[in-house]
Amino acid sequence: MILTQVFRAMQPKSILDECNMESGRIYTRTMVEHWRIWRKHEVWLSQFDDMHMNDFLFKETTLHAHSRDAAQEGFAKAAKTTHALRKAGIADAQFPHKTKYWKTTVWKNTGIRVRDGIAFLARARGLAPICVQLPFDLQHLKIVEARLVYNRKISRYEWHFVIDDGKEPIMRSEGASVGVDKGEIHPAVITDGNTALVISARELRSTGQGLAKAISILDARKAKMKRGSKRYKRMSKAKAKARRVASARQRDILHKVSRAVVEYAVEANAKEIIIGDVRDIADGINIGKHTNQKISLWPHGKLRSYIAYKALMQGMEILLEDEHHTTQTCPNCGSRKKPSGRIYSCGECGFVGHRDVVGASNILSRRLFGELGRVQIASEMYRHPYFLKQGHA
Ligand SMILES: [Zn+2]
Repeated sequence: MILTQVFRAMQPKSILDECNMESGRIYTRTMVEHWRIWRKHEVWLSQFDDMHMNDFLFKETTLHAHSRDAAQEGFAKAAKTTHALRKAGIADAQFPHKTKYWKTTVWKNTGIRVRDGIAFLARARGLAPICVQLPFDLQHLKIVEARLVYNRKISRYEWHFVIDDGKEPIMRSEGASVGVDKGEIHPAVITDGNTALVISARELRSTGQGLAKAISILDARKAKMKRGSKRYKRMSKAKAKARRVASARQRDILHKVSRAVVEYAVEANAKEIIIGDVRDIADGINIGKHTNQKISLWPHGKLRSYIAYKALMQGMEILLEDEHHTTQTCPNCGSRKKPSGRIYSCGECGFVGHRDVVGASNILSRRLFGELGRVQIASEMYRHPYFLKQGHA
C-alpha cells in the first residue's frame, strides 16, 4: 500500500528555503512563458512542449532534473483542472496566473538514494545532496517520492515521504456491514443495526461557517479599496491566512471523524462500510460564494476519502449507496414523510428516533435488502463528542 509518512525537517532552514524558492521560481517562470506565448501567438503549450522548454529555460537550477520537472508539472496540473472546470460549465474558472514565490519541492524516486537509514535527496549536478535521517520504520521500505512541505500552521518544514510497503491489504471476506450517514449537523452517524454511533463535531461546521463569514467581510472591505494598493494586498493576505488556518483545522477534525468511523467498523467486525452517496458537487469546485454555502458546509468528499483510506488499511471495502429518501422512510413501518428537525417521528406507527440514525439504518437496509425500512433502528446509541476540543484524540 502507498502510505505517506510525515516528519519534521531538521535541515538548516536556508537550504530548505532555497529548494522551495527554486521550485516556486520554476513554476512561475513556466507560467509566465505560457502566457507570453499565448499573447503573442495564441497557442497554449502542451506538456510535451513544456519538457523542451524546461531543458532550455532551466539549465541553471539548483534542483535535480526531475524535481525541476515536478515543479513545472505543477503548472500543467493546475491548468488541466481549470480546463476541466470550464468544460463542466464553470466559465469563470481561471487559469493559473499567480506568482508563486514558494512551492513544495518534489523528489521522485530517481532522485533518492537510501543508505544506512539515510535518504540522499539529489540536487543539481555538483551540489551536495540533502541528507535526511529516516525514521526507523521507514528505513527498509520502498520510497516512491519525497516532498518538502512548509507547514504554515506551525511555521516549520516537514518531510512527506511517500512509501510503498509492498503489502496489499488483506480484504476481509466475512463480516458485518455498517452504514454511514453524513449529515449537516453531525459529520457522520454509523450503525450496524445493533448499535449506532453519532459523531458530532460542531467545530467542523463552525469552521466552515466562520470562514465563509470572515471571507465575505474581507471581500466587502476589499471591494472598497484600490486594486493593487497596499491595503488591498494586506487584505488579500488576511483572506489567504483565514483560509489556511481554517483548512488545517478542518483537516485535523476530518481525520478524527474518519478514525472514529473506522474504529467503530473494526469493533463491529465489519467487512464493508456503506456510505450514502450525496454526489459531492460542492467539493473542490468553486461555483460562487452564495451557492457554495447553500449546498454544503461539509467537505463530504474529503471525509469519504479519509474514511476510504483508513478502511482500506483494515481490509474493509467502501461501497456507495443511493441516499434518496433514506432519512424520510420509517424504519419501523416503511411509510414515508419529510422529517422536520433532528428527530424522526412517524405519523403512521408512532415510531420516534434520531433522524441521522434513521438515515444510516436505511442506507444499510438498501445495501442488505435492496429496499428501505428493513433494518431495525439500533437499540443502543453512543455519542462521540470528544474531539470537540482540538488536540485531543
Ligand atoms: Zn412508521
